[in-house]
Amino acid sequence: MDFNGFRVVWEGLTGHRGWKPLWRDPDPKPAYDIVIIGGGGGGLATAYYLATVFKEARIAVLEKGWLGGGNIGRNTTIIRSNYMLPGNQPFYEFSMKLWETLEQETNFNSMVSQRGILNLCHSDGQRDAFRRRGNAMILSGADAELLDTDAVRQMYPFLNFDNARFPIKGGLLQRRAGTARHDGVAWGYARGADRAGVDLIQNCEVTGLRIEAGAIKGVETTRGYIGAGKVGVAVAGSSSRVMQMAGLRLPIESHVLQAFVSEGLKPCIDGVITFGAGHFYVSQSDKGGLVFGGDIDGYNSYAQRGNLPVVEDVAEGAMALMPALGRARLLRSWGGLMDMSMDGSPIIDTTPVDGLYLNAGWCYGGFKATPASGYAFAHLLATGQPHPTATAYRLDRFARGLPIDEKGMGAQPNLH
Ligand SMILES: Cc1cc2nc3c(=O)[nH]c(=O)nc-3n(C[C@H](O)[C@H](O)[C@H](O)COP(=O)(O)OP(=O)(O)OC[C@H]3O[C@@H](n4cnc5c(N)ncnc54)[C@H](O)[C@@H]3O)c2cc1C
Repeated sequence: MDFNGFRVVWEGLTGHRGWKPLWRDPDPKPAYDIVIIGGGGGGLATAYYLATVFKEARIAVLEKGWLGGGNIGRNTTIIRSNYMLPGNQPFYEFSMKLWETLEQETNFNSMVSQRGILNLCHSDGQRDAFRRRGNAMILSGADAELLDTDAVRQMYPFLNFDNARFPIKGGLLQRRAGTARHDGVAWGYARGADRAGVDLIQNCEVTGLRIEAGAIKGVETTRGYIGAGKVGVAVAGSSSRVMQMAGLRLPIESHVLQAFVSEGLKPCIDGVITFGAGHFYVSQSDKGGLVFGGDIDGYNSYAQRGNLPVVEDVAEGAMALMPALGRARLLRSWGGLMDMSMDGSPIIDTTPVDGLYLNAGWCYGGFKATPASGYAFAHLLATGQPHPTATAYRLDRFARGLPIDEKGMGAQPNLH
């Protein structure tokens, strides 16, 4: 079933009786060539590209809950490629290019909206750093513009420009960045993968990995044993727990990240704004709610809800940047499980176990990476070689002293 304008009108006139479920609900088969653990953005995109680009068959995605119920459906929907380091920038720009054609390719409205992201700077030093970052982006084929205070004021006159502690001195704008409807992304990839023959198996938790003579043989699940030639792990905040089943300890900590949405307001923010003097960012959803967030809760946890001190911290950031926000009411908040790596960059790599592959360490930035994360992981699973844009995302980079420390903040998860 394809989506198009004619179909929508026809269904509207005929009582919406023709719509079909977007994917099958198959029982697990005894064995697959490739099993992907985790039905989030990374896992679904991997299965999609494995089947459509790399022409692999006999693939299953095993999800312990429902498809898209993890971070892919909990994030604040920002997509961008404003990275600076050589290990990161080509990968995120590759992702940006995939976003630009995603909806046509999957025939699914994922509401990709290139409304721009503006990173505000509040000191001369920060402006210099943004200039450097913008130049690095342009050199690797992305877009970037450095704005002065007047240009920012024209875009967003209601910001607190003359704050004594954090005056706004300009901003780095990436116009091609923006937002995408997060669960629509999961659904688009899920439907595409299902159409290409992938079995998407929900309510199927992986509880063990069967390894013989150093090679993966299959997975134990709540729906029985499933044999597998290769297993790809894409479980984000649960990475340490799943890899522990193979006896591996990861350079990753799990933390909660919260997000918030206000009551619906008239259109006032048409892009994404980030505060440069604290951890706060905001955009406006198509329904009118202001969607915003800040720092992780700062303690290790597997709970998908956070605590009040971070709510207060985020509210302080909001008030410092945009005092008018104090008059809006908070509608709801939620949390997700972050797989915080020690340098803030991801891991897409083989493991010491033959046939076991890892996609993890996305911290709070894996949504924007969804297309490239899936494509690069599929490339690795299908060819055994890292994708050219993901060669730096090695698991052993910490041991080798080659971290990709984009923020220059060291091995401190709460700062990435
Ligand atoms: C509040 C919040 C805001 C964020 N904002 C942004 C943003 O604006 N931009 C951005 O780029 N990123 C953002 N992120 C980060 C981004 O959402 C994540 O990095 C990314 O979604 C992680 O990859 P994923 O989609 O594959 O993870 P998930 O969707 O979490 O997928 C992992 C899946 O694995 C499943 N699983 C776990 N264990 C097992 C098991 N044993 N067996 C079977 N299945 C299992 C889980 O149920 C889950 O569905 C945000 C995250 C949060 C929580």
